[in-house]
Amino acid sequence: MNSKIWLSSPHMGGQEFAFVKEAFDTNWIAPLGPNVDGFEQDLVAYTGSGYAAALSSGTAALHLALIMIGVQPGDEVICQSFTFSATVNPIVYLGATPVLVDSESETWNICPFALEKAIVDRIAKGKKPKAILPVHLYGMPAKIEQIIAIAAKYDIPVIEDAAEALGSTINSKAAGTFGIMGVLSFNGNKIITTSGGGALISDNQDFIDRARFLSTQARDAAPHYQHSQIGYNYRMSNICAGIGRGQMLVLDKHKAQRRKIYDTYAEQLSALPGIKFLPEPAGFKSNRWLTTITVDPAAGKGITRENIRLELEKDNVESRPLWKPMHLQPVFQQYPYYTNGEVSAALFDKGLCLPSGSNMSSADQERVVNIIKKIYE
Ligand SMILES: *Cc1c(COP(=O)(O)O)cnc(C)c1O
Repeated sequence: MNSKIWLSSPHMGGQEFAFVKEAFDTNWIAPLGPNVDGFEQDLVAYTGSGYAAALSSGTAALHLALIMIGVQPGDEVICQSFTFSATVNPIVYLGATPVLVDSESETWNICPFALEKAIVDRIAKGKKPKAILPVHLYGMPAKIEQIIAIAAKYDIPVIEDAAEALGSTINSKAAGTFGIMGVLSFNGNKIITTSGGGALISDNQDFIDRARFLSTQARDAAPHYQHSQIGYNYRMSNICAGIGRGQMLVLDKHKAQRRKIYDTYAEQLSALPGIKFLPEPAGFKSNRWLTTITVDPAAGKGITRENIRLELEKDNVESRPLWKPMHLQPVFQQYPYYTNGEVSAALFDKGLCLPSGSNMSSADQERVVNIIKKIYE
């Protein structure tokens, strides 16, 4: 059996263990400490955001962001349908209703037309959405400037899910820094990892101070344990943050490697009939967290993305269909949904994520390319 090629696996840079060892040596084995502070400073410096709070996961960051803008049971929150379920779950944790909006075809992210249609219709039905949650999926930035303009017109706050987009930019400004808050993830498969973790970033210090307070059980200033609010145990551990500090040293390198992987796939596979890539709109720069393709059987010898996925699997290569949109998920399909042309359903039907880890060798990539080329011979 050939060695396994993963979709996206952890890739240590070498310095992570030194930060973790320092935490052990100084006994900072807790959800606070110098690595947490240092990692937050690194995130601020890298993204250009004013402030950052390191948390236990991206999901926790989304949950806290919604709590801080006051989402209550019965409220509505607009959310991109084409995403991972973790974007939507925190809306439901709060007893609020997700209003799902389809994508456009240039970035695969929330469609500004469908978004405005949803806002107008929800307001007409008597409920103004409490927030808008766009996602920068697979690292490709959403049309965030248009989204922010629409949100401003109706005075609705935007929280960006940039879990997959650390290092992505629009006109050189970091994804996650356009809305009132941005969410990052450092899960094991993301562009950098802390083994598990996330962060909330914002230019508003008050949000970040409150995120730190709420994520450490909402302790009031008192010598005893005093609480006037419900708290959460969502802070990042100093051990995980040590891994994060080491990973920040190689983030730009990982981004360059993933972008190169995309370029190689595009170079090698674009000529195959029915296979299409997702180019960057002008001014947009994706971290190319995962290289994604669409496979049109009508244009390409009847070959489907499942044919490709199964051929890769036979050779111990992991690939994965694109996210199944939330409006098609059994657990979310009862919620309101708005579209301007069923874009994400078609992407789910035809789309595939190719192995894209920054630790892939060129021989690994050649193996993937050759398997796919052979299917079309
Ligand atoms: C990974 C991910 C999250 C959740 O982050 P966790 O750190 O795994 O909780 C949220 N949204 C998207 C789009 C993601 O890919």
